[in-house]
Amino acid sequence: MSTPATLRIGGPGAGEAPGACDRCGTGRAAYTRKYSGQSLCTGCFRHSISRKVAKTVSKYDMIRDGGRVAVAVSGGKDSLALLQIMHEMSQRHNFEIDVITIDEGIPGYRDEALGIVSDVCGSLGVGHRVYAYKDLFEVSLDEALGMRQPQNRQGARGMSSCSICGTLRRRAIDIAAADVGADAVATGHNLDDMLQTFLINMLSGDTDKIAWMGPGGATGAAAADAGGHSGANPRRIKPFCEIYESEIVFYAFASGLPFQQEPCPHMNEGIRTEIREFLNSLESERSGIKNSMYASVLRIVQMAHGRVATPGLRETGGPDGATTTPATPATPSESTGKRRSSCTRCGASCTGGAGGICSVCETMARLGRICR
Ligand code: SF4
Ligand code: ZN
Repeated sequence: MSTPATLRIGGPGAGEAPGACDRCGTGRAAYTRKYSGQSLCTGCFRHSISRKVAKTVSKYDMIRDGGRVAVAVSGGKDSLALLQIMHEMSQRHNFEIDVITIDEGIPGYRDEALGIVSDVCGSLGVGHRVYAYKDLFEVSLDEALGMRQPQNRQGARGMSSCSICGTLRRRAIDIAAADVGADAVATGHNLDDMLQTFLINMLSGDTDKIAWMGPGGATGAAAADAGGHSGANPRRIKPFCEIYESEIVFYAFASGLPFQQEPCPHMNEGIRTEIREFLNSLESERSGIKNSMYASVLRIVQMAHGRVATPGLRETGGPDGATTTPATPATPSESTGKRRSSCTRCGASCTGGAGGICSVCETMARLGRICR
């Protein structure tokens, strides 16, 4: 894919920006950040994203010196952009990366993405392994969805396509990360994803999951398995957590990344799409409101961890000067008081769901299967 001189990307925060780049003064401005008024050429824009990611990684101590990071790459714009930036960082710093891809088993959807990821990894010279639900759990997502009882397919019982898929994916990522010997797993979750997940948890009454929603890393709130699986697993880190989705889209186009455009056929079954549109409409009228909300989400995550008794963390200039930094590190188990144990069925480390079984075994039981 070639890089157009000027890109018109729809959505809040993006816009055509005539004139010279505000940073280098010579390039033609191609992107305007509405929340700051800054217009940048494609080169300066890409550089600004790389710098912002590096700052986020550093601020939260996301990557250990000499560490190994498993980059979870689905083939979408976020994860391929993340791979590009993590690869550049690994060339300049002392850590290594491996790419892991989870194949859910959704006919006609993942095949294109697998080819794209394989090609990109080949051109970067990065190791790539694929982990399929069918191999790990003996059922593909498609088969699992077909096993649901009709009354369990929607709503509060948590058997929506995405809830099953998410539960299996978290475990698959843990297995994959252990397999490649990674001490951290990087995912492409951006700021919009964080806000959407926060609102979904609030609206569905899953307030316990909010405590697990941090950016990850040693000084960020650890992002373990919201379904209760934690323990000796690699840390989940989200290097894009302070970047708008619209900026990732522009970065991917400006970098010529050949990302998959076909959406998952299940993506509109949940409430996430409606929340995304709601937040985008707010942002289009009130530039920067997502940054403000993200700062609030971080505070609430930290309070959920018991790190602060009352609101009032010191401001340290997070996403565009609007976030906070936790005063002291804490592990999820210390701060939430949840004790880790082993699932009584599969033996996986978890915080113990109903009957002492983990979220994966619980899901499988509800589908009428017994975990190995
Ligand atoms: Fe899985 Fe839902 Fe994502 Fe599709 S949209 S890949 S079902 S989590
Ligand atoms: Zn420039």
